[in-house]
Amino acid sequence: MDILKVKNLKKIYHTEKNEFLAVDNFSFNLKKGEFVAIVGPSGCGKSTILSILCGLDNPSSGEIKYDKTLKFGYMLQGDNLFEWRTIYKNCLLGLEIQNNLENKNYVNKLLKTYGLWEFKDTHPSHLSGGMRQRVSLIRTLATKPDILFLDEPFSALDYQTRLAVSDDVYKIIKKEGKSAIMVTHDISEAISMADKVIVLSNRPSTIKHIYDINLENKTTPIENRKDKNFAYYYDLIWKDIDYHV
Ligand code: ADP
Ligand code: MG
Repeated sequence: MDILKVKNLKKIYHTEKNEFLAVDNFSFNLKKGEFVAIVGPSGCGKSTILSILCGLDNPSSGEIKYDKTLKFGYMLQGDNLFEWRTIYKNCLLGLEIQNNLENKNYVNKLLKTYGLWEFKDTHPSHLSGGMRQRVSLIRTLATKPDILFLDEPFSALDYQTRLAVSDDVYKIIKKEGKSAIMVTHDISEAISMADKVIVLSNRPSTIKHIYDINLENKTTPIENRKDKNFAYYYDLIWKDIDYHV
């Protein structure tokens, strides 16, 4: 079942001197429980698309259809934790803003399930990059969103941590039964995590291809990287992307 239908999004940015087309003709549907990755070179318009999809920005034209009872949650670049707040207070931030502390028990449960309960009264600087990312995810999950929007969530982490954290975050998203849309410039990350990969062109961003990722044995992101079909998709997507060197 499609829970989000996006049709012909266009975004024109107006600057002081001129205007330019950032995104054109962007359409796709998201199914319940599906994990979609959007990949493309830096500056092509990925964040623009994600901000429009999650309602932080408006398109110049096009439509986005979804049941208005659905809740959205987003995790932007980096972890955006506030150092002056404890881990617990960081996790409650979204609920405080919504004046909805009913979900406090859910936050407690998430912190316990994902190994952060004993750190709840410490501050973010005491945690590793991976743990901070998990806190950030719990903060996003606290409002019980149906769809998660992730903008290059692991880009601040070093390579090894990035692999471990993407595995971790993926398992949590699946276990909590969420649908997700993630933008990234990392082809491997996209293939290893997503059911469907949307490949973007350079600016203005248009869709080059949408691939259904059919691995021999789809398990977790780290294991998926070793799959027989992984290199096949990597090659296809690599050839699609116009990297300027
Ligand atoms: P990506 O996330 O793929 O790196 P962005 O969506 O951030 O790309 O940006 C796409 C293009 O739009 C870039 O050229 C960027 O400079 C420009 N851009 C982004 N936000 C704005 C804005 N608010 N006003 C004008 N131009 C913008
Ligand atoms: Mg971006």
